[in-house]
This record gives sequence, structure tokens and C-alpha cells, in this order.
Amino acid sequence: MCGIVGFFGPDDVVHDIVFGLTALQHRGQDAAGIATFDTNFHLHKGQGLIPDAFKPKHLKKLTGNIGIGHVRYTTQGSNEIDLAQPFTTSYPFGLAMVHNGNVINFRQVATRLHDKYHVLPKTSNDLELIMYTFASELRIKDLDHLSVVDIFDAVETTQELVKGAYATITMIAGHGLLAFNDPLGIRPLVLGRRDTPAGPIYAFASESTCFDYLGFEFIKNIGPGQAVFIDKNFEVHYKNKYAAPKNFCVFEYIYFAREDSTIHGRLVARERVRLGKLLARKVIDAGIRPDMVIDVPSSGYFAASGLAEAMGVPYRRGLVKNNHMGRSFIVSSQAGREDIVKKKLNPIRAFVEGKKIAVVDDSIVRGTTSRRIVSILREAGAAEVYFISSAPPIVSPCIYGIDMAMSTELIAANYTEDEICQFIGADRVIYQDLSDLEELFAEDKGHGGGCFACFSGKYPTGDVSKYLRHVQEERLSQRHEKKRDKIPSVSPKAPAPTEH
Ligand code: AMP
Repeated sequence: MCGIVGFFGPDDVVHDIVFGLTALQHRGQDAAGIATFDTNFHLHKGQGLIPDAFKPKHLKKLTGNIGIGHVRYTTQGSNEIDLAQPFTTSYPFGLAMVHNGNVINFRQVATRLHDKYHVLPKTSNDLELIMYTFASELRIKDLDHLSVVDIFDAVETTQELVKGAYATITMIAGHGLLAFNDPLGIRPLVLGRRDTPAGPIYAFASESTCFDYLGFEFIKNIGPGQAVFIDKNFEVHYKNKYAAPKNFCVFEYIYFAREDSTIHGRLVARERVRLGKLLARKVIDAGIRPDMVIDVPSSGYFAASGLAEAMGVPYRRGLVKNNHMGRSFIVSSQAGREDIVKKKLNPIRAFVEGKKIAVVDDSIVRGTTSRRIVSILREAGAAEVYFISSAPPIVSPCIYGIDMAMSTELIAANYTEDEICQFIGADRVIYQDLSDLEELFAEDKGHGGGCFACFSGKYPTGDVSKYLRHVQEERLSQRHEKKRDKIPSVSPKAPAPTEH
């Protein structure tokens, strides 16, 4: 998963880009990159968080009134800086591009590019495929008189040829700033504007929270298959009308997006509260009567507050997070992940001791975090621990840009709820019902529907079995290179899940 921004205005845009990326830091912490353009492209990429990747000496060189930026969360490939975005090309003339998502017909697009245009991507980053496909389609236009229709034509062909999820922003040197989405609109992308004395400045961003920070007015979500082009006279052109996406990633609402973002008309925080309220019925039907509801900070907070409110049970913050430890997922070894969870979360013993605790997290993926949390709460004296997941069981890997591990590592793909409960050491485990989640995002509820592939195994881009096999093989071979990552041994009463 990644975060992207693009700005085009009357003055230098680098500071807006930096602040915009900082607001999107939750979408990627491995690396960051910025490209700007005045009479030339200026590019800088660095590892880590924005303050680590960009020092004042780098920002000084990033001049120009148009620019794009990216924060990277490595989903595939290694964390080499060469794979960080933006990517630039001078073919057929200056382009720089960023994207958020994942291309699933990599080989097919690469072969076509090679056979038809003799273009060979230089890296394994799928952005190159989108960029060169778009560039090749532009190249066959009349470059001296490139029109908006030509640009949208090239976008359309790219959308037909490239399968998967991709929200993109492109600087086209001397022409303007372009953003387009994949035909299903799986990833978020929004357009905003701020008026300055020197004229308007336009921005594209993964999430609307950027605009709140920077004082921009939200203008539009960019829907499935849509493209928006800001030309050099700051006129805004739209390809296709906005339609609510039928396949927008529901996991963005559950976990990934920031709580204060509004995506396709829905505030993320409010959806999380709703998810919590939906869980109340399941918890009550299961005969569970907690003394207290707590959250796994921070992504479990809104669902926990919704659950507590619907059940009439007090909510407290029972676990305190050290925000400076990074995400547990980022640590590649299982032992490392467990250790980090422990260092990251400290229980408030006085609140949990002797109590029956319902602890709410957004999801259970491998089960590592939940297992550790249950043990932390037990060590702090909790009388009973009920683990509540605001997401349904995750049974299929995401192939559209969220790194969720492969099927063999997804605990719900391999074990029953009772086995999971034993493995994580809880007294009960309660998951959201997929049907309730689908109902929440149903078309008649003012949303176009959603992509539920990780919960249902039904992928909106059609038969993806070949791609899933390819991902599994690739990951296994990466593992062999490092060392196999094992699910650790479990408490005496738990059956040890074994690797498949
Ligand atoms: P685990 O069950 O140990 O694999 O981890 C589940 C936890 O990881 C949940 O608390 C989520 O907040 C978090 N999580 C879920 N999906 C992701 C993801 N794709 N990247 C990073 N963290 C995630």
C-alpha cells in the first residue's frame, strides 16, 4: 500500500508535497520520493519516514510549480531505493508518475511493451508498466499538438491493457498534471483546490485528510475509470462522469485509511463506529457480557467505541501504544513481530485487572498480534479476554496492493474459529459477519458496493488463480533466500498451527 500526492499551482509546490506526504505517512513508511518540474525534472528518493528521507538540502533542489510525491509501503519486491517512486521517463517526452496499487498482469503488459514498442521495464516495480504503456500510447499521437483528447485516449488504452488496482498521478512536462484510476476504482484518489493571490493550486491525493492539513477545499473523488487533467492554463478536464465504485477496497475503511478521511462520501471514523455497533448483536448473541470494552490502539478505537455504546458497557483505553515503534508488520521475522508488539503496547493494569475485557482490533491476519495482546492482558490480570475483530475472517490474500501475507499464513484460511481462539489464547473470538459488512456497503446504502476479496475469495478482476500461484511462489522463494518464517509454538492448551 502506498500514498500519493500531486500539486500544480502558481508557485513552488515542494512544501505542499512534503506536508501532504506527511499526512499520508500511515500509508507507507519504507521510503518516500518527490519529483518536481520547472524547466527540468528534479527528483529525490530516500529510505524511511519523510523527515529521514528529506533534508532541507534536498528540498532546496526540488524547485518547480508542479510536482508529485509518494510514500512507499513495500508489498512486493525488496525495499531497494531504486524501486521507490516517482519514476520518470523522457519517452516520448518528460513524464513522471506515482501510483498506489498493484498490477496483476505484469508479464502480459511487459511482453506487449517489448514486442510492440521495444520497451523494457528497468525494474520489477509495476508502476513502470503503467508509465510505459501510457507513454507508448502518447507517443503515437501528434506530439507537437498534443490535446486533452489525446491524453485521455492514452489513458483509456492503458486502462484497457493494465489489469489490477492503480490510482495514479502523472506530471506531463509542459502540459499539466493528470490523475487516473483503474477501471474498477479499487484505490482512493481525490481532487482538491486552494485559492491563492497568485491563482489556484490544484492537488490530487490518496486521502482527503491531506486537504484538511493544507487548507484545500475538497472537490471530488476520482471514481472507477475516471481521469482528471489540469492543463497548463489550470483548466480542469474530466474523462468519464463520476460513478460510485462497486469495487472499492473495503479494507481501506476497516484498517488502512486514516480515520479523519472521507472516501466516496463516507467518513472512515464513522464507518468504523458502525462496524463496532454491528458487532454488538453478535457479542450479545454469543452470551458475552464484558465489564469493559477496550481497543487495540489505534485502529481498533472507533469500532471499540461503537461496540461499547451499543452494548451500554464502559469503554476505556486499556492498552497504551508507544507510537515510535513502527508497524509490527514491517518486521519480517515472527519473533521480531512478537517482540515489537510487546514493546509497543503497555496495559493499564488498574483498568483491566480482575475484569472481563472485550478487546477490539480491526482485523486478525496471522494471529500474531492478537495472541500477544491476549497474553499482555492476561499478564495484567484480566479475568477473561474476548477478542473482537471488526473485520470478517481474512481468508484470501489481497492482490490489489495491501500486503496481507499469503494464504498459508492467513490464520482464518487454515483454522476454524475455535482453533483460532485457542491459538490466540482468548476466552472467545468474535468476527464481523461478511454479510453485515456487505450490507453496510451495499449499493442502496449510498455506496456502490465494495471489494471484499480478502474475506470472500471473490476477486473483482476475474479469475486470478494464476496470479495467486505466482505470488505464492515468489514469496516462498524470497523466504527461502532469507529463512523460513515459522508460526511460533503456542500455549499448552492451544493446538499449534503448522505451516502448510
Ligand atoms: P496479525 O493478526 O498478527 O497478523 O496482525 C493483525 C494486525 O495487523 C491488526 O491489528 C491490524 O491492525 C494490522 N494489519 C492488518 N493488515 C495489515 C497490513 N496489511 N499491514 C500492516 N498491518 C496490518
